[in-house]
Amino acid sequence: MIFFSDFDGTLTLNGELTRDFFEIIDFIKKQNNELIIVSGRSLSWGHFFLTHFPLKACIMEGGGVILYKNSNGEILQKPLILQDEIETLEKFTLNLQHHFPNIPLSADSFGRLTDRAIEFHLMDQEWVKKSMDFMDQHKIRYSKSNVHINFWVGEISKYLGVKHFLHHFRPDLKQHDCWFFGDAPNDQSMFELFHNSVGVSNIEHCLDKLIHKPRIILKGEENIGPKGVLNYIRQLNQNSVD
Ligand SMILES: [Mg+2]
Repeated sequence: MIFFSDFDGTLTLNGELTRDFFEIIDFIKKQNNELIIVSGRSLSWGHFFLTHFPLKACIMEGGGVILYKNSNGEILQKPLILQDEIETLEKFTLNLQHHFPNIPLSADSFGRLTDRAIEFHLMDQEWVKKSMDFMDQHKIRYSKSNVHINFWVGEISKYLGVKHFLHHFRPDLKQHDCWFFGDAPNDQSMFELFHNSVGVSNIEHCLDKLIHKPRIILKGEENIGPKGVLNYIRQLNQNSVD
């Protein structure tokens, strides 16, 4: 079984890695299952995950690139968009910065390959809207997480990344045997198209903005972020033992 999970707000609590995160990793490992982080964060964050945690792969940049360890333990990357699209994104980003000289690109944008990100909380609402209108005019796609506005060229979504991963890297596993945890609008492709989707309880803050909601929504303080993930995987295990 694979537990796919968003990172920010789902495996972190108020921006911090807590004891629950390490318990999740430990629990999944002991059950001989696998944790695959599916995050809007950059490729370089993925390198960090695979270097410092006992994970075999992760899906980064909102589904734009898969990072995995080969049989020698080397970390390899597989972008899921075309080189042309990567180059178009580079050109658009320069154009965006030219039109909005003070736009706060995320500090990890230099480590990104298939998308870029803006720290929208550092901008006032009017400029957030203007930059999104500019993307619309140039047919650039974007989505808002709880920390960034990510933008890209081509077909990228967390669901497409997960689908590609299952098909090419774990063909023996069926989607229905896997789970996904998330907390924000940028998880909606998974809520819409992946059968076993779970929202941790802090998703409550954005539920009214979601077009597609998770099939299961956890409730209460005890199910915020990684606490909810840990409770849920423990409960699943308990049910399979009973
Ligand atoms: Mg999140």
